[in-house]
Amino acid sequence: MSQEILEKNLTPMMEQWASCKKIAKEALLFFRMGDFYEAFHDDAVVIARELELTLTKRQGVPMCGVPWHAAENYIDRLVAKGYPVAIADQVEDPKQAKGLVKRAVTRFVTPGTVINSSLLSEKTNNYLVSFAQVGAVFGLATLDLTTGEFKVTEIENERELKSEIYRLRPAELLTSEKFQKKHEKLFEEAKESFRVLLSCGQEWSFDHKHAYAFLVDHFQVHHLDGFGLKGMVAAINAAGALLAYVQEELSLPVTHIRTIKAYSTADTLSIDWVSQRNLELFETLHGDQTLLKVIDRTQTPMGGRELRQWLKHPLLSVQEITKRQDGIEALTFAPTALAKLRGGLRGVRDLERLMMKVTAGFATPRDLVALSSSLKQVAPIKEIICQIGSALIYECSEQLTDMKELVELLERALVDEPPLRLTDGHIFRDGFYPSLDELRTITKNGREWIARYQNQIREEYGIKTLKVGFNKIFGYYIEVSRGQAHLMPDIFQRRQTLVNNERFISPELKEYEGKVLTAQDRMETMESDLFLKLRQKIAESAEPVCKIARSLATIDTLSSLAEIARAHDYVRPVVDESEKLEIVEGRHPIVELSLPKEQFIPNDIQLDGEKELLMLITGPNMAGKSTYIRQVAMIVIMAQMGAFIPARKGHIGIVDKIFTRIGASDDLSRGQSTFMVEMSETANILNNATSRSLVILDEIGRGTSTYDGVAIAWAVAEYLLKTDGRQAKTLFATHYFELTGLEKMIDGAVNYHAGVKEWNDEIIFLHKIERGAADRSYGIHVARLAGLPAPVITRARQILGELEQDGGRKSNKRKVLQAVEKQLLLFES
Ligand code: ATP
Repeated sequence: MSQEILEKNLTPMMEQWASCKKIAKEALLFFRMGDFYEAFHDDAVVIARELELTLTKRQGVPMCGVPWHAAENYIDRLVAKGYPVAIADQVEDPKQAKGLVKRAVTRFVTPGTVINSSLLSEKTNNYLVSFAQVGAVFGLATLDLTTGEFKVTEIENERELKSEIYRLRPAELLTSEKFQKKHEKLFEEAKESFRVLLSCGQEWSFDHKHAYAFLVDHFQVHHLDGFGLKGMVAAINAAGALLAYVQEELSLPVTHIRTIKAYSTADTLSIDWVSQRNLELFETLHGDQTLLKVIDRTQTPMGGRELRQWLKHPLLSVQEITKRQDGIEALTFAPTALAKLRGGLRGVRDLERLMMKVTAGFATPRDLVALSSSLKQVAPIKEIICQIGSALIYECSEQLTDMKELVELLERALVDEPPLRLTDGHIFRDGFYPSLDELRTITKNGREWIARYQNQIREEYGIKTLKVGFNKIFGYYIEVSRGQAHLMPDIFQRRQTLVNNERFISPELKEYEGKVLTAQDRMETMESDLFLKLRQKIAESAEPVCKIARSLATIDTLSSLAEIARAHDYVRPVVDESEKLEIVEGRHPIVELSLPKEQFIPNDIQLDGEKELLMLITGPNMAGKSTYIRQVAMIVIMAQMGAFIPARKGHIGIVDKIFTRIGASDDLSRGQSTFMVEMSETANILNNATSRSLVILDEIGRGTSTYDGVAIAWAVAEYLLKTDGRQAKTLFATHYFELTGLEKMIDGAVNYHAGVKEWNDEIIFLHKIERGAADRSYGIHVARLAGLPAPVITRARQILGELEQDGGRKSNKRKVLQAVEKQLLLFES
């Protein structure tokens, strides 16, 4: 918005708008005028376009408006589209105002800080993430304002930073302008990949002294060492700036943020962003299933969010994994208790977000009823889990304190189904507050008196259509039709003449009106004051309630995984520090569900990390190679999140990182061809894999000429097999038969193929991964299945025959092998 607009000759109202707009900055300003929120200038143009509203003009100024009572819906829609919104309200009572009613920006809503909105998805965290950089270190702070979860980490490489952003999937990213300019590409990519708002924080708020002081002040501590933040300068800068942005710039509540946690991405299995996408963990590439959807049977929003976290951050600690496995196993062994437990959890609402609303002063009477009914489930849940022998479940049950007093208070105080809004009245049960009851009786009696009065004068003057009505301007009045108005004696004063009716008042009526309305006013104020007091009282229990919420989240996650294990026949794998990767009759958790029962062909894998390190998998298209290699990666992820796996048996040595190079995706918008993307992904793997990593390669080098492609694929495989510290377990699916020669040349390479059966010139895919290399590619068969015209197929067969007769293909292979061997010798000498 140009400065000129903000300062040009303005009417007093527009002056007020301009001063609010200065505070709102980039946010779209909703400016309260009477029963509408109006937007002006560029804001109006954007809002009208995005919400398909009519854009009007007054004195050349574009404007559009929405009714105040429906504003939340419009605001939500704008925020969902990634816009920040500022709301300017009347901040004094219009009745008391002298001249123009004062207006001020009272709140902001940005995608990363929505608290109370239909936009929030129950089972997903809503993150605001901020960044700072100190030297080569990136500090990253993450806040979910709806739950109060606040965490920081430090990362030393840009790719890892990008992966963490993708893992977190924030709704909003906060940085300083300088940082944003420096890493423009990173942010643009994030914006393109998922809807995220880029916000700029004040430069000084990222300054270490300021950030540190801000955090210390917020947490009321002398230093931040107790939170494990000692020496984490970049992380502290990011966290301080984030909190300052939320509290000072957006004026949002932060009292419920009671702690901050430091975490390290090195403590969990690293699944970089490409692999998260390729393995369809959270989002689909094709179809509509994701691994998360398959394993999510959680009953509560907290459980849903927890399960997502477990899948995002599978563990590296055998001890912690075993603890989760023990919990799941114990639940699978007790199906009746499991069913009862899940029934109990079903009655628990989002305790974390409810409690946040209570402490932040947003909770409605209905929220408190939901809180109380949820907390009522805690005791029966505790009773069920006490019978289940598992350390993790026991730890959780310890946190399930009995909130009996709080539940009783809420049950005694609130009616079963209170109205949506506080102002709608009748929140408290009769008998809970005697003074409130008194006022209720007066208003109720007053209304009864008015009804009696209506009947009395109707009969006295014989006017059947006479009725007593009420409106905000005139208060109570007596209405009669114009034809009968002459029947009204003089004691009634005429107040208003309508087309068909006349309205009168009487001294008696006015006297009663005074009593009823004052009582009504007092009752509303009292009820709302009492409610605020009750809410504050409940807020005192925030800590134990949040502990209960966290424990229920874990219990829910464990029970969801137990339920899935039972439903889909998953088993408990052995997870240890060994080098093994052994899976007997493993299945792809998503593909198996897409096929009729028992039609999925299970497959084994046996890598010992030494003699068998790199599996080269050849075989025709459509034979099941991709499914197989993806399934292995998914099973490893499931095992390390502590879950059971789709297999008959499994033994998995801890993996530190999973890399995948799958499929052809180009990135032309950023000037990267398919081949360039493929090579940069491969480079990342070769530079970052360790001997504890798992590498999944589905074709390498296909985006270039055959010679180049084979040579690169060969060199990549060889690098992974021979380079100390990079000897990752690798599953390499390829159509380059030339590569099968590796088995004879380098220890650790082993050939496998996806089996097919030929039958009457047809091929049948067996979907079985077997030892040894494939002998043919069957590409033409698959092309025929795909519907290529018959003449093309016939001609292709003819050409293939000629090439094979020429020995072309074979000599190519020989040539490549010879070339590579020569290179090897050179290299070694
Ligand atoms: P391409 O080389 O063309 O990528 P591919 O060998 O990787 O092919 P997949 O994509 O893994 O083949 O599998 C093709 C289809 O075969 C899958 O969509 C699935 O329906 C089916 N399929 C794969 N594996 C199995 C299996 N183990 N059991 C049953 N069906 C399977």
